[in-house]
Amino acid sequence: MSSSSDYPPILDGSTIRSKNTELAVEKHINKILLIEDNPADAKMVQLFLAESGLEGCTLNVKQTLTQGLEEIGKSNDFAAVLLDLSLPDSSGFQTLEKLLNAYPNMNVIVLTGHSDKKLGLDAVKYGAQDFLVKGSYDVDIFAKTIRFSIERKKFYDQLQEARLRYQNIFTNSKDGIYVCEFDGSLIDFNKSTSEIVGYEANELEQFNIKKLFADNEFWDNFLERIQATNNVVEEEVDITCRDGNIKHCIISASKMEYGSFNGVNGFITDITEKKLAEKLREDRKIADKTNALKEQFIASISHEMRTPMNAILGMSNLVLKTDLNEEQFNYLSSIKQSSEILLGIVNDILEISSIQNGKIKFDYENFDLHELLANLLSVMQYKVFEKNLSFQLDINPRIPKYLVGDKLRLNQILYNLVGNAIKFTDDGLIRIEVIELNESHGSWHVQFMVEDSGIGIPGDKIGVIFETFTRIRSKERIYEGTGLGLSIAKNLVEYQGGKIWVESTVGEGSRFYFDLIFEEGEAPDAAKPILESLDPNTTYSLLLVEDHAINRVVATQTLKKQFPNIQMQIAVNGKEAVEKVKESDFDIILMDIQMPIMDGYEATQAIRKMDNEKSKIPILAMTAHANIKENERYKDYGMNDFVLKPFEPEQLFHKISTYIKLQETN
Ligand code: ADP
Repeated sequence: MSSSSDYPPILDGSTIRSKNTELAVEKHINKILLIEDNPADAKMVQLFLAESGLEGCTLNVKQTLTQGLEEIGKSNDFAAVLLDLSLPDSSGFQTLEKLLNAYPNMNVIVLTGHSDKKLGLDAVKYGAQDFLVKGSYDVDIFAKTIRFSIERKKFYDQLQEARLRYQNIFTNSKDGIYVCEFDGSLIDFNKSTSEIVGYEANELEQFNIKKLFADNEFWDNFLERIQATNNVVEEEVDITCRDGNIKHCIISASKMEYGSFNGVNGFITDITEKKLAEKLREDRKIADKTNALKEQFIASISHEMRTPMNAILGMSNLVLKTDLNEEQFNYLSSIKQSSEILLGIVNDILEISSIQNGKIKFDYENFDLHELLANLLSVMQYKVFEKNLSFQLDINPRIPKYLVGDKLRLNQILYNLVGNAIKFTDDGLIRIEVIELNESHGSWHVQFMVEDSGIGIPGDKIGVIFETFTRIRSKERIYEGTGLGLSIAKNLVEYQGGKIWVESTVGEGSRFYFDLIFEEGEAPDAAKPILESLDPNTTYSLLLVEDHAINRVVATQTLKKQFPNIQMQIAVNGKEAVEKVKESDFDIILMDIQMPIMDGYEATQAIRKMDNEKSKIPILAMTAHANIKENERYKDYGMNDFVLKPFEPEQLFHKISTYIKLQETN
């Protein structure tokens, strides 16, 4: 054995490393604490440790229990504490008691003298890991005991780590985690469980889980399944929370058996919101589907109504151009006027349907405010004149002439309000006033007012006139109208971020206001130069594709009256049209869209695919589909433009002229 001088002296608090320390540094350091006041005994331990062959051990020596406890308190990561029971500040069994009370999981190896071997045995019974009798243990026994401590410490550390990991999952899980006995008595639960069910943690300590289920039979049936399958069982269940609210949850459970415990553990997940969102999505889907069907229905009804209206209006136009006596002329004019009103109604219904489906689109472009208002007045002029009303327009001169906005929609709103003002006023004045509410950085907040001196609106009706289909009954008056105009106007204003409201006194008149914000604009691009109308005597060839017999007559006669030299051919469906185009040359084609056998889109596509000049013939869609402009499908299929049925003869002539002249100039 080497002499003691080979070893560094033991100092209070000094650290001595065993021989293999250099190699072990990287691995793991096993800290050992020796609490011993006898330097000789301490030296002995030091020697044995050096000889033990244990890797990476450090020895820390303290002379009193107080110092020892203090040292453990600093890090509490000693693999073993070698404890002499007779110390200056504590002696006998209580030395161990004090240490184990403070650190119950510590691996304590008690060092006893020969005389008190029994003390060592008692110490082990009390919780010490082992005991060594001074003077009678050798290096091997020492090494074995310490190695056992190290292993025990490692195992304990791992266990502790795993415990913390699971503790963490348990505590922080968003799902409720519970453990209970078969009869439902709750044994353990996490924070989320208490949050889901709304009971405080202390209220859940003596709690039966059965109390949570809205269905009294639930737990027994659930348990039966758990017992039968031995696997995780999952079920949707309604849970009654502490405040009486019902939550929709998923509860899972599996059997849990360890030691003497027999019971169940599992999860509770709150799916109330998920369910609700699911239901909303489902409802939404159904509503969307219903709305789409409704919209489709209205669009096709509108198409079906416009087709015969085209015949009525077209024929009226034709007859009005013949020699009629005054009586005949007046009757026919009434037919025409009534048809136009009917058409307005069809348009309104279609418009409100697309508004309700959120299909409304706005086109912002430069426009001339003054021109817009002047046009409006000129359209309304004859009605105002008919009723002998006076008409006044006041525009605040500060408001720029050119603005950026949706001029068609603005026109539509004003047209509705001014139309109503005229309709509900028998004598007096209609006045439009445009004022500036505010201006900042080129943004103009503008207020429009349409004032009349008409019948006025009763106070109790003011709140409802902007709703769909509201019309105020009046014994003295019969009004045409659907009660949709103001509702459309309101939607058009509000979709653009504005407000619309009315002030009115019965018998005195009404003032309708609305406000919108416009950016200051510039002069709109000069409108395309209006090409001169085609000389009526021009000879040109036209193919009319139309399946509706009367509408064929209307179009043919209208065109022949205007262009006596026109060469017209007729096809009654798309297939026939394609054949005619192959056989003859045309300057222009008027193409109905909805037709049997082959529709106008397909026919146009076929013509556009022809490998000669014919593929370039101008094709105008002629359709009763009022939404043709919005969906622009006609463009996708290669049509140049469209004419909406019922058509205004002038508009039809204008479009024909434009495309024939364009073709000539190309
Ligand atoms: P309608 O197509 O029936 O005119 P509106 O939605 O435009 O539908 O108007 C709804 C109702 O509000 C009208 O039927 C009428 O009773 C009332 N109303 C609207 N404008 C005026 C007005 N300028 N003067 C009096 N009553 C009006």
